[in-house]
Amino acid sequence: MLKDKVVIITGASRGIGSETAKILAGYGAKVIVNYCGSKEKAESVVTQITANGGTAVVYKANVANAEEVEVMFADVMKEFGRVDVLVNNAGITRDNLILKMSEEEFTSVIDTNLGGVFHCCKQASKIMLKQKSGRIINISSVVGLIGNAGQANYCAAKAGIVGMTKALARELGSRGITVNAVAPGFIQTEMTDVLSDKVKEMVLSQVPLKKLGVTKDIAEAVAFLASENAAYITGQVLQVDGGMGM
Ligand code: NAP
Repeated sequence: MLKDKVVIITGASRGIGSETAKILAGYGAKVIVNYCGSKEKAESVVTQITANGGTAVVYKANVANAEEVEVMFADVMKEFGRVDVLVNNAGITRDNLILKMSEEEFTSVIDTNLGGVFHCCKQASKIMLKQKSGRIINISSVVGLIGNAGQANYCAAKAGIVGMTKALARELGSRGITVNAVAPGFIQTEMTDVLSDKVKEMVLSQVPLKKLGVTKDIAEAVAFLASENAAYITGQVLQVDGGMGM
């Protein structure tokens, strides 16, 4: 389905990103496994992909840093000669109620979750405009659509991703580039493992399908949007949330 497509996935050392890397590699893509701090985990993702006959490399870059992102795309171009798909998945949380939220908690989440998407989209666009083809898939969140107490920073960044997705879909569409977002609901990863059982039960009560999502649910949605089957879809937010955000 994605044979020989060159795919950059940010934050692919763990969770949704690592599963997406494995699934897209399974569909034939050559995957750049970006990470920021979890070197061993990122290398283990690459080892698993290559052990299954796939192609993948690790690449360390902090998506919040424009220069590091520019160098990453330049290096990928040197090694692979093109970028067919960008999956902006890297993200962090620094939850707090607004009255207690520090400037650092606010700006670090905006810089990584929204600034990171901006930096990567800018570099990918440069390449994809020349290619006259490309797919950008941004990982937003259900809480960017419906809000969540204690996550003003995170919700603002994830809602910002939706706006950026639609703006870029309009800006880049005439050159054969699609830009879409996936908005996951409550997915079992390290990001959500830290939440208390009480919070998890509260979230579950709002999910019509009455279960948490798994990383594969998101990875397969990304694979679809990256595939030829999604060629006429752009500017959309695909909610993969068990019905939570409808
Ligand atoms: P996770 O398990 O915490 O993994 C986050 C990934 O992002 C890691 O690979 C991490 O890499 C990377 N990352 C963090 N800061 C980075 C930076 N500055 N530069 C590059 N990479 C960075 O999170 P997850 O649950 O898989 O979430 C993945 C995405 O889905 C995030 O955007 C998240 O907001 C979104 N999402 C998740 C859920 C959920 O329920 N889990 C729901 C909605 C949306 P290192 O460890 O190497 O730094």
